[in-house]
Amino acid sequence: MRVTTLMRRLVGVMSLFVVGVRWDANTLILAVRPRWLKPRCGECGERAPGYDRKGLRRWRALSYGRVRVFLEYAPRRVACGRCGGVRVEKVPWADHASWFTRDFEERVAYHAQVMDKTAVTKLLGISWEAVGAIVSRVVERTMDEDRLGTLQRIGIDEFSYRKHHRYLTTVVDHDTRRVVWAAKGRGADTLAEFFSLLGPDGVARLKLATIDMAGGYIKALEERAPHVKIVFDRFHVQRLASVAVDEVRRKIWREMKGTKAASAIKGMRFILLKNPWNLSRKERRRLAELQHTNRRLYRAYLLKEALAAALDYKQLSRASRALDDGLAWATRSKLPAFVKLARTLRKHRDRILAYVTERITNGVVEGINNRLRTIARRSYGVHSAEPLIAMLHLCVGGIELNPPVPARSSAMPPTQP
Ligand SMILES: [Zn+2]
Repeated sequence: MRVTTLMRRLVGVMSLFVVGVRWDANTLILAVRPRWLKPRCGECGERAPGYDRKGLRRWRALSYGRVRVFLEYAPRRVACGRCGGVRVEKVPWADHASWFTRDFEERVAYHAQVMDKTAVTKLLGISWEAVGAIVSRVVERTMDEDRLGTLQRIGIDEFSYRKHHRYLTTVVDHDTRRVVWAAKGRGADTLAEFFSLLGPDGVARLKLATIDMAGGYIKALEERAPHVKIVFDRFHVQRLASVAVDEVRRKIWREMKGTKAASAIKGMRFILLKNPWNLSRKERRRLAELQHTNRRLYRAYLLKEALAAALDYKQLSRASRALDDGLAWATRSKLPAFVKLARTLRKHRDRILAYVTERITNGVVEGINNRLRTIARRSYGVHSAEPLIAMLHLCVGGIELNPPVPARSSAMPPTQP
């Protein structure tokens, strides 16, 4: 086998010729050219007449062991009729405007799925900015284009980054448990962009959306997809009740500061907010004592539990009755935090009860947001939304990359066990 043929097999791109091999400053330089003779436009792929030739350029390819490998070629420029101007020609080993071969880019993305920034940049010897651009290109190439075509049940949530100064809106497919869309911003306008992308047919196909009670998303859903059943996340409802309990506790604490009664509620915060089945025996005893030492706070606790219990019912009629009872009690409770909560929940009653028939929460979306938080924290350069969105698609968008596996050769006998 000739060396150039061997080198082409090593590069693994069949539509190129290796025309020369040389060793330069501890790197292997392969002079290459596309197999096709007539140049094609790098932007649209159309054949186009050559215009002139640019200087030599290098593309980083996968290393051979410890040896770094570059492909070298002087690309032509073409006068493209379709794009209407002079463009650099297309090369078969890399994307337009990339300095890395596709195989190399896929290796980078594979590592970025599982490793942190420092490890990736050290292992592959490229800058973090380059990793960001590579991830965006790989996502563009490998993302499932049909992911929006079958959407029926979606979860919508916001994700904050840069210490709650910036936001992303993420949309998850409940059935594949993957992120299908993300964009900068939050609220009605951002979600409206998603509906525009989906188009009328896609919107018509949607059946259900889980959200928390954030106003913006409700507005966009009501305006752009009024047929979609909105299900409020039950855990968000319960969190609001917990916030109300805590508000009651703090108010009582302020009123009683320094008195003996105050010491009775000291250290009660976590006991009040815990799920009852997670309470230790000692904690349960303290809660029981609260019945006598502070009736108001105990009432707040019972209200929170009553609202949670209403959503445990499997039958809608029972759940509605329990929820209505709970809300009526909250209204009469003389606890301002709960009076206010009851007003909010009553406004959204049907969408809260939708959980009982659909049995679906925003848990998947929140789980994905937790992954995203890890990604952002792994210092994946979250200065702007774009690299973060690309990382989100790469890590939780269902993109499967495999490390390049050496092809099994027919010349080599299978190893004996
Ligand atoms: Zn073109």
